Amino acid sequence: MSAGMTERVRPAKLTPAFLDGLVTRVPGSTGNTWKLTEVYTGDVLTELPQSSESDIERAVATARAAQREWGSWPLRKRLKVMKKFHALVVRNQLLITDLIQAESGKNRRMAFEETCDVPMGTSHYIKRAPKLLKDRKHAGPVPVLSSSTEVRRPKGVVGIIAPWNFPFATGISDTIPALIAGNGVVLKPDNKTALSPLFGVRLLEEAGMPRGLVQVVCGEGPDVGPTLMAGVDYVMFTGSTATGRVIGETAGRHLIGCCLELGGKNPMLVLADANVDEAVHAALFGGFGNSGQICMHIERLYVHDSLYEEFRDKFVAATAAMTVGATYDFGPDLGSLVSVDHRDRVASHVDDARAKGATVLTGGRARPDLGPAFYEPTILEGVTPDMLAGSTETFGPVVGLYRFRTEEEAIRLANDTDYGLNASVWSTDLERAMDVARRIDSGNVNINDILATAFASKGTPSGGLKQSGVGARHGDQGLLKYTDAQNIAVLKKQVMEPQGDQTYEAYARQTRITLKLMRWTGIR
Ligand code: NAD
Repeated sequence: MSAGMTERVRPAKLTPAFLDGLVTRVPGSTGNTWKLTEVYTGDVLTELPQSSESDIERAVATARAAQREWGSWPLRKRLKVMKKFHALVVRNQLLITDLIQAESGKNRRMAFEETCDVPMGTSHYIKRAPKLLKDRKHAGPVPVLSSSTEVRRPKGVVGIIAPWNFPFATGISDTIPALIAGNGVVLKPDNKTALSPLFGVRLLEEAGMPRGLVQVVCGEGPDVGPTLMAGVDYVMFTGSTATGRVIGETAGRHLIGCCLELGGKNPMLVLADANVDEAVHAALFGGFGNSGQICMHIERLYVHDSLYEEFRDKFVAATAAMTVGATYDFGPDLGSLVSVDHRDRVASHVDDARAKGATVLTGGRARPDLGPAFYEPTILEGVTPDMLAGSTETFGPVVGLYRFRTEEEAIRLANDTDYGLNASVWSTDLERAMDVARRIDSGNVNINDILATAFASKGTPSGGLKQSGVGARHGDQGLLKYTDAQNIAVLKKQVMEPQGDQTYEAYARQTRITLKLMRWTGIR
């Protein structure tokens, strides 16, 4: 594993004045701050205000007041802002890439690809929203004399709680459909990675969004969460399954809706007829993209017996040749993990596996010579379910390699987990791969790709099954979840009761005949 060290110097645009300017919008009345650091070096970039309960209550009230105006705008006026926002994101894409890299420590390729998610999602909903949000006429119970209209109303104020691994994508991409639907937003990014979402909010305002409509509050999750959730009308959460459970319980107590996008332990299946070289190439990204800190990345790699040795040898050699480095150019294949705490957690999974008898085929060590939180891409063989890396999400650059003999066995192993977020199936026979995909209990399955094809298909809902989530982002429901359906029904003449001196018995007889007739003719 070699190190790339060319553009180590922090990008010139990330001046103290620029970074301090970004965090000024975060309310912090008590004066408490959090030291937001550059991951590659541990240098403090800025002091992030920490929001108190009253700051959060005020933020919700401000967003609510601004929402009344925004929600009354015709959709085309809101979409005009979004079109401008899209252009601003593309114009500022490399600066956003710099911000993401500095705060998360990821390599430049992953930071750049993260920035692409926001324009893609925005563009999709600009096109789709007019159809989804327009009133829909439905038949009423009585033909001709009645009708019902489905009206989509914004929820009000949406709370968006985002993790550190894709701070700009989860923070801003989830905000956009909420805004298009007419809501205000209170966004809570992770303390470590608040800069890129704060810049996204600045661009929204530059694009013409009313000031105050999107509020950003910061603090440790358990400090901010309860007050935020007591104030908002819906919550969109992305993070770990453990926290998701807390959010779901709190949402239940407040009787508000929530969408939970949670963790995974994602399998990749290389079937007997797969192209080994393509699968190996993809597995490098699948296992080690974003240093394994992608909710949809691969932690369990199942290879058919007939290909196993060839696949293993090529995968180990290619992994050992990957470059790891702390640079702001497109050089290194891997960047850093997000923090020293997280590096220690990843290391504890590898050490536990090693102690319980797994073999480290490559990697398996931290790289303090590169920066405080670096860890090498690691392949394990002989992982068993009693090991931490065998059953719980590692969320780092660590892949377990397994052998299977039949497709039945591969499917059983793939499904032998509490999670169900993503899976990847490799085969040259698409029909066969499709058949396997349908039998995997996972919200996303990518055939001959790892994750990008499913995640970037913005028209299709993307969410987790089992302990990986509730609800979905993308697709029509990715916008409609931020609305309530109001049913406005019109009756032109009252005929759903006995007419004149008709007895109820006669009315009941007539109703039964009518029910039969309507079914028979297909009217209702
Ligand atoms: P996390 O659950 O620790 O934190 C996520 C966010 O929730 C942070 O902003 C955190 O401050 C906040 N939070 C924590 N406790 C809270 C509480 N009690 N109330 C309110 N907010 C609270 O997760 P993480 O470590 O930041 O992120 C990594 C996890 O996220 C992994 O499990 C990963 O798989 C998952 N993830 C899932 C998706 C997806 O789309 N399914 C996407 C990205 C990440």
